[in-house]
Amino acid sequence: MTNPYTWLEPSLATIHKANWYRSVQTITSQPGAVVQLQGREVINFASNDYLGLTGDQRLIEAAVAATKAYGTGCTGSRLLTGHRELHQQLEQAIASLKQTEDALVFSSGYLANLGTIAAVVGKRDLILADQYNHSSLKNGAILSRALVLDYAHNNMADLANQLAQHRQQYRRCLIITDSIFSMDGGLCPLPEILAIAHEFNCMVLVDEAHATGVLGATGAGCVEYFGCTGQTLIQVGTLSKALGSLGGYVAGSAILIDFLRNRAPSWIYTTGLSPADTAAALAAVKIVQQEPERRTRLHNNVNTLKGLIQQQLKRLQLLPSDSPILCLPLVDATAAVKLREQLQAAGIFVPAIRPPTVPTSRLRISVMATHELDHLKQLVSYLASTT
Ligand SMILES: *Cc1c(COP(=O)(O)O)cnc(C)c1O
Repeated sequence: MTNPYTWLEPSLATIHKANWYRSVQTITSQPGAVVQLQGREVINFASNDYLGLTGDQRLIEAAVAATKAYGTGCTGSRLLTGHRELHQQLEQAIASLKQTEDALVFSSGYLANLGTIAAVVGKRDLILADQYNHSSLKNGAILSRALVLDYAHNNMADLANQLAQHRQQYRRCLIITDSIFSMDGGLCPLPEILAIAHEFNCMVLVDEAHATGVLGATGAGCVEYFGCTGQTLIQVGTLSKALGSLGGYVAGSAILIDFLRNRAPSWIYTTGLSPADTAAALAAVKIVQQEPERRTRLHNNVNTLKGLIQQQLKRLQLLPSDSPILCLPLVDATAAVKLREQLQAAGIFVPAIRPPTVPTSRLRISVMATHELDHLKQLVSYLASTT
C-alpha cells in the first residue's frame, strides 16, 4: 500500500533547510509594550496594537458587558439569525470615522478582502495589483477569476502603461493596493492612483489595515491623510490592529455596501462577529476619534526611533517608511533569524520576516503609542552593539 502523505516530511525538511521554517511562541500576559513571551519579560516590537487599545479597560469592559447581555456567539450568518444591533452600531461608527455612506463588518480583514474583490469583479474583468500587496488581496484577486496583472511596487508609470495596453479588452477594472504596505511600512501614492483610475475608468480598493487609527487627523487612515476623503472608492480594513479587536470591514457608498450584503460570499455564508468582538471594536472606534493624543504619541515614538537608528546604527539603514512599521534589511534569512534570536535572548522581541512573505529578509519593528523612550533606546543600543 502506498501512503499519499509521504511528501509532507521532505517538504517540511526543505522549508527547514532554507531557514524558512516558522513556529509559534506563547505570550502569557496582557498585550502591551512589554509582554511575557515563553515565560520571560520582553520589550514588544512585534504587535499591530499601535495605539495600545487591546489591553484598554474600556474595550475589555465593553466586551464583557456584550457577552453578558448577548452571549458568546451570534449563532448564524447575519442574513439568517446572526444580525445584532451592535453590528449596526459598529457599522455606523466605522462609516462615520471614514466619512462614507455606509460600512459592513466581516469576520476578519482577510475575509473582507476575499469577499469584496470576488463580488465586484469576475471573469470578464481586469485587476491591476501592486506586486507587494497583502496575501488577502492576492488571494481575493485569484478567487474573483478576473485577469490579474501585477504592477511594479508603487510604480505609477507601469500601472498607467498596463492600463493603456489592456483596459479596453475588459468590462470592469479594479486597482487594488495596501495603503501602508504591511511588510515595508511605505505608503501607496493614493492621489496618483485615483487620478489614473479616473482616466481609465477603474474602481479602486485600498486596504487600510495598518493605517486605520494610525494615519489622518481623526485616524481614518491614508484616505484622510492624503485629503481624499469623500472620493468614491472601496476602503477595506481590519478591526484587529489599531482597533484592538477581531474582524474586518468595508466602507464605501450605500449602494456598494448593499450590493456586498447580496454578493460577498465570505460575508453571506459565515457567522456574524461575536458580541464581544463587536462591542470592543465599537469602543475602540470612539477612542480613536476622541483621543488623537494617542496618535501623537505614536508618531513621536516613530520619529524618535528613526532618529536613534540614524545616529547609532552605522551599517544598517531603514527601508523608507511613513508609518509605525520600520524595517531593517538583512543579507539573508539565516542572518535575520540569528539576529532575532540574539535580540530575544536580550529581552527584545522583534520578528524576522523572510521569503516567501517578502522578497528579501528583514527585521520588522512595530512601534506602539505605549512604548517608552527607554524601550526604544534599549532596542537601538542592542542593535548597535551586535551589528
Ligand atoms: C493584517 C492584514 C489583513 C488581514 O486582517 P485580519 O483582520 O487580521 O484578517 C489584511 N490586509 C493587510 C494589509 C493586513 O496587514
